[in-house]
Amino acid sequence: MEICVDLRNVSAADFPAPRTPDGCEECLAQGTRWVELRECRDCGHVGCCDSSPGKHATAHFKDTNHPVMRSIQPGAAWTWCYVHELQGELAGEPAHAGAKST
Ligand SMILES: [Zn+2]
Ligand SMILES: [Zn+2]
Ligand SMILES: [Zn+2]
Repeated sequence: MEICVDLRNVSAADFPAPRTPDGCEECLAQGTRWVELRECRDCGHVGCCDSSPGKHATAHFKDTNHPVMRSIQPGAAWTWCYVHELQGELAGEPAHAGAKST
């Protein structure tokens, strides 16, 4: 699988807490709607996807050059690099975690 250096070994632990866990930061401010949400790895900005009218995740990259985001949809574990336009997966997903107390 082709993967860029930005996405290599990126895990959920590399992402800060979302700044606006309730939704897209700009959409919440403007009162507009979004389809799906993306979170920036560098600053925790939450923006909406390119299927949303605002496309605020892409706008955030253009404003800040923060290259890596992930989907924060429930169950999603993929990442995206805007610089190389490549998709990756979060490393070390809980499915493979060893010690599970039952
Ligand atoms: Zn990259
Ligand atoms: Zn938005
Ligand atoms: Zn950012």
